[in-house]
Amino acid sequence: MVHRQEPVSARPRGASPVRTCVGCRARAADSELLRAVAADGDVLPDPRRRMPGRGAWIHPDLGCLARAEQRRSFPRALRVQGPVRLDGLRSEIERLAGSVGARHSRAVAEDRKQVDPS
Ligand SMILES: [Zn+2]
Repeated sequence: MVHRQEPVSARPRGASPVRTCVGCRARAADSELLRAVAADGDVLPDPRRRMPGRGAWIHPDLGCLARAEQRRSFPRALRVQGPVRLDGLRSEIERLAGSVGARHSRAVAEDRKQVDPS
């Protein structure tokens, strides 16, 4: 029996690493995704990819953000306990996505569950 080593996909050496979007779970080159890090319960965008710690990767797309939020992907990906605030990341994605996305995000924001700390 001969097992041939098939290349998983054409992945040229030297290309940017492939990451998985925490929203839609699609794989994409890291240059297409926005890095986010956790800081004191906030998820912050890290467009320069210089912040220390664990990063989560997401398309700069409000649909992906909404999905990640529903699935609670950020606490899992960033290994933090409890709910995280996505406001910082959301405004960065809104800026990147433009005004059409911002309008959509307002509807998403109104639909968000209120977290009651008591
Ligand atoms: Zn995505």
